[in-house]
Amino acid sequence: MMARNFRAVVTHRLAELYSKLLPIPCFLCGDFSPDDVLCSACADELPWLDTCCQQCAIPLNETGICGQCLQQPPPQQSTVALFRYEAPVNHCIAAFKFHQQLAFTQLFARLLADKIHQRHQPLPEILIPVPLHPSRLRERGYNQSAQLAAALSRRLGVATDKHGLIRQRNTSPQSGLSGKQRKRNLKQAFAVAKALPYKHVALVDDVYTTGHTVAEASRCLQQNGIETVEVWTIARAIRHY
Ligand SMILES: [Zn+2]
Ligand SMILES: [Zn+2]
Repeated sequence: MMARNFRAVVTHRLAELYSKLLPIPCFLCGDFSPDDVLCSACADELPWLDTCCQQCAIPLNETGICGQCLQQPPPQQSTVALFRYEAPVNHCIAAFKFHQQLAFTQLFARLLADKIHQRHQPLPEILIPVPLHPSRLRERGYNQSAQLAAALSRRLGVATDKHGLIRQRNTSPQSGLSGKQRKRNLKQAFAVAKALPYKHVALVDDVYTTGHTVAEASRCLQQNGIETVEVWTIARAIRHY
């Protein structure tokens, strides 16, 4: 027991020493950033989303529901996003997505968990990451939304269900498709692998672009007995009409 404790202390001290000897540079400015992948100055300057539509997270001047959602409500009951999807957040998300930047997963999960807590609303029963098709998953090696959901799960104490929702069709990448094509591309893209015993879930995705993907996934969940679907995402693309 003593020996094991001693080893743990030594390992911890060595890790501390290592991080002092080899300081982590901030991903954006390269300055010394002792605790995080971004220094606090760069983090402050990110395009934070403040007041926005509760249902789709489009920026608004006051809290409420946007005109678009009043006219044509999306299937999800609410959307939480941290940032506008623009520079330099897009670079951070690209790093998070393609280079296995675990540090970004931790940062985004911490910030999202803080935002979720600040709402003082009941937490969902389960977190469901937007799934990748198995062939895409093999290609990439991991699902970034599942990693984000796992990190959020640890912070919020809400379990994750990685296998309940599946991607049954390997859709073409959404980028490069028109709005209509995107919608068609996603028809019946999702299915449930088993009966889902939940009433209130949060769907976790990295970026909310047109919203078609999360809408299609939300619809699938609602057709399978889930009453409340929240969408939690790192960044929301804002298109100017
Ligand atoms: Zn910086
Ligand atoms: Zn809206």
